[in-house]
Amino acid sequence: MPVSISVKSGARAEMIDITGRVQETLRQVGVKDGQCLVYVPHTTAGVTINEGADPDVCGDILARLEFLVPRNAGYRHAEGNADSHIKTSLMGNSVSVLVEEGSLVLGTWQRIFLCEFDGPRTRRVFVACK
Ligand code: ZN
Repeated sequence: MPVSISVKSGARAEMIDITGRVQETLRQVGVKDGQCLVYVPHTTAGVTINEGADPDVCGDILARLEFLVPRNAGYRHAEGNADSHIKTSLMGNSVSVLVEEGSLVLGTWQRIFLCEFDGPRTRRVFVACK
């Protein structure tokens, strides 16, 4: 059974470190060895794994995405957030993380980030561990 966690974003575009929340969910579920699927059921928010030590990495990712996919570029999608949809597809909607001895197997600098592209909003993240 997946567990739903709620994450509040505070800006239109933002990368929010949810590693602690995922680890906490893993602990509650009690899986010792296996894997965790982290899935974001949204079309304008995604999830990725990248460096969490230097906040400039996330800043650079967001700045480059904005450069590649500007907010106003003559899109046809009438809702006005076509860039948010495109950025979400570039990041993806899920990541899988291995679990060993009850802990997420992440590299020294790796963190799991919810990628908000049309905030601020409250987002749901599903975590399924087995
Ligand atoms: Zn839209």
